[in-house]
Amino acid sequence: MFDPRAHTSAPDELAGRVIAITGASGGIGRAVALACAQHQAQVVLIGRNAARLEAVHAEIMAAALPEASIAVLDLERALAGDYDQLADAVLERYGRLDGLLHNAGMLGTLTPIEHYDVPTWCRVMHVNVTAAFALTQVLLPALKKSPDASVVFTASSVGRRGRAYWGAYAVSKFAIEGLSQVLADELEGLSQVRVNTLNPGRARTNMRRQAYPAENAETLPLPESLTAPYLALLGPASRGVTGQGFDAQR
Ligand code: NDP
Repeated sequence: MFDPRAHTSAPDELAGRVIAITGASGGIGRAVALACAQHQAQVVLIGRNAARLEAVHAEIMAAALPEASIAVLDLERALAGDYDQLADAVLERYGRLDGLLHNAGMLGTLTPIEHYDVPTWCRVMHVNVTAAFALTQVLLPALKKSPDASVVFTASSVGRRGRAYWGAYAVSKFAIEGLSQVLADELEGLSQVRVNTLNPGRARTNMRRQAYPAENAETLPLPESLTAPYLALLGPASRGVTGQGFDAQR
C-alpha cells in the first residue's frame, strides 16, 4: 500500500518534470516549490503577489536549480481569460504539465454557521474550491500531454471530519475531497493523470497563526519538514495511485 510519508525522493527524482504550484509565495507552497526545484523539477510558481513570487524565484535561481517561471493569478478575482492565458503560457513554454499542486487557500473566519458572514462564505468557497476546479479544467489538456501526470489537492482534517466553527473552510475542504474523487474516477483508465488529496497537518504558517493566534508557533513543524510526501505524490513514486486521500503527518 502506497504511503507518501514512507518515501524518500532521490536527488534527481523530479528531473524533466514541470510542476505548477498555487500559493507558491509563502508557507507550505513556497517550501514545496523549493523542494521540487531541489529535486530538479521546473516549477511554475502561481500566486497573487508578484513580489513574493519573485523572491521564491530568486531563491531558486541563487541555488542554481532548474529555472522556475512565475504566473500571477489572484484566485479570488481571476476571470476566464486569466485562466486561459496561464494555460496557454504553460503549453507554449513547456508543451505539457507533469504535476499540479493546488495549495493556495483561504481560512475565512472561525464562526458558528448560525452567524457566518455570507460574502465571506462565498469568497472562501470560491478561492478554495471553484478556483481549483477552474484551474484544473484549463490545465487538463497540458496534463494529458504528460506521460505521467499528477494532480494533488490540499486537504485538511476539518474537511474529513467536520468541526464546530470552521465554517466555509471545513466545507470547502470536504468539497475538495469530492472534486478530487470525481475527477480521479473520470480519468481512471482513460488517461495517465492521477488525482489525490494530501492533508499537510499542522504547520508553522500564516494561516495556522490566523486560526490559532494564541498557540506557541515554536511547537509546530516548519513547512520545509513536510515536503517529502508532496514530492512522493507529485513524482513517479505515486504512479498508478489515484482517487485517494493522504496525510503528510502521522
Ligand atoms: P499560508 O497562508 O502560509 O499560504 C497560503 C497561500 O495561499 C499563500 O501563498 C497565499 O498567497 C495563497 N493565497 C491565498 N489567497 C489567494 C488568492 N486569492 N489567490 C492566490 N493565492 C492565494 O498557509 P499554508 O501554507 O498553511 O496553507 C497552504 C495550504 O495548506 C492551504 O490549502 C491550507 O488550507 C492547507 N492546510 C494548512 C494547514 C496548516 O496548519 N498550516 C493545515 C491543513 C491544511 P499570499 O502570499 O499572496 O498571501
